[in-house]
Amino acid sequence: MKEIETYDVVIIGGAIIGSAIAYFLSQLSQFNGRILVIEKDPSYATASTALSAASIRMQFSNRVNVLMSKFGGEFIQNFDQQYAADPDIADLSFIQNGYLFLAETSEQREILTRNAQTQRAAGAETELLTRAELSGKFAMLSLDDNCLGAWGPRGEGWFDNMGLLNGFRTLAKRAGVTYLQDEVIALSLAKNRVSTAHLASGAQVSGVDFVNAAGPRAGQIARMAGIDLPVEARKRTTFLFQAQTPPPSDMPLVVDHSGVYFRPEGQMWICAMHPVDDPEVDHDDFQPRYQEFDDIIWPKLAARSKQFEAIKLRRMWAGHYAYNTLDQNAIIGRHPTVANMILANGFSGHGLQQAPAVGRAVSELICFNQFRSLDLGDLSFERVVNCRPFFEYNIV
Ligand SMILES: Cc1cc2nc3c(=O)[nH]c(=O)nc-3n(C[C@H](O)[C@H](O)[C@H](O)COP(=O)(O)OP(=O)(O)OC[C@H]3O[C@@H](n4cnc5c(N)ncnc54)[C@H](O)[C@@H]3O)c2cc1C
Repeated sequence: MKEIETYDVVIIGGAIIGSAIAYFLSQLSQFNGRILVIEKDPSYATASTALSAASIRMQFSNRVNVLMSKFGGEFIQNFDQQYAADPDIADLSFIQNGYLFLAETSEQREILTRNAQTQRAAGAETELLTRAELSGKFAMLSLDDNCLGAWGPRGEGWFDNMGLLNGFRTLAKRAGVTYLQDEVIALSLAKNRVSTAHLASGAQVSGVDFVNAAGPRAGQIARMAGIDLPVEARKRTTFLFQAQTPPPSDMPLVVDHSGVYFRPEGQMWICAMHPVDDPEVDHDDFQPRYQEFDDIIWPKLAARSKQFEAIKLRRMWAGHYAYNTLDQNAIIGRHPTVANMILANGFSGHGLQQAPAVGRAVSELICFNQFRSLDLGDLSFERVVNCRPFFEYNIV
């Protein structure tokens, strides 16, 4: 019989969330346990992390999300400074052109105004701009008379997603974290605790704490521990296109009130939308939905700027949101009954930017049994048990 390897912390899933947790835990001087990250595909070909739009904003509707992204933005900036001379760590090329949310109806304007108050109270610098101010600043946009824009001048924009992932992995490994290429296929429980993870290779590992960082497949891992997690895979197709002229250097990520968004990607642009029909999809279904571009996105782009009237579609890809069907917010913390199962799931499209805050919070939970820097109690699993949603309304 094979010997069972024992670790203090076993992290299932080694993309941005699993690796952020491994990194933060490995940097805590008060923690000296053994950490294992199990990742079934280190190429990350279908991980949400690799397929994301790699953007960060503080423009959320609830305070805790603003604070998490605020820390994310600061972390990314500091990371570049701290590791500038390290040949193994890439510069994250954080382009802080901001997000620009556009509103036209009075209801949309009210929501933007209310959200901006929440954001500013949490330390964001969101500015509300009238149509005249928007036209002066972003001349390429065609705007309706009623238009109001919410723009984040600092700490918002986009960055190198895989650079951050590789940075976390490299630094975690340097600090002694083990990465294992394998797949968790079953979990054994004893006395309401996960005792052993069974792997596709036939190996087994035991641990004191287990972390579910399996992204859109988090529901599968939870089920192995008898937990019903309201997280499912939802498809999002991203399109890369070329316009008549390259993007202006100060162009933000624009979120149209229709739900279509676009931003510069080097000399080109990427765009996507929140699908009207948004069913759960199979975990292996990565077929892009081309019709979204033709039927909805391109007409909206062309209406938003003359520059987009004639464009060339260059590439498209589909990725999966780990969609929390209860309230589109992350679920973070220990499970109330399977207490050594820690959840970091259901990010519903904003997990990349939250990864530093989640890594810090989960490492504190493991090491000190409490959140120390930022209380993420609002995001605990208890709200699922009690069916008390904690909604995030600003989902892109
Ligand atoms: C199109 C798109 C655009 C997005 N845009 C943004 C954005 O602009 N900003 C933002 O903040 N967020 C964005 N997101 C969301 C963000 O990408 C995710 O929230 C984040 O990457 C989640 O990271 P994760 O580590 O939880 O999941 P993933 O990146 O999916 O990683 C999960 C990992 O777990 C592994 N795994 C799964 N099951 C097992 C198993 N049984 N055994 C071992 N390993 C396993 C997988 O192989 C995978 O590598 C976007 C997502 C998509 C799809």
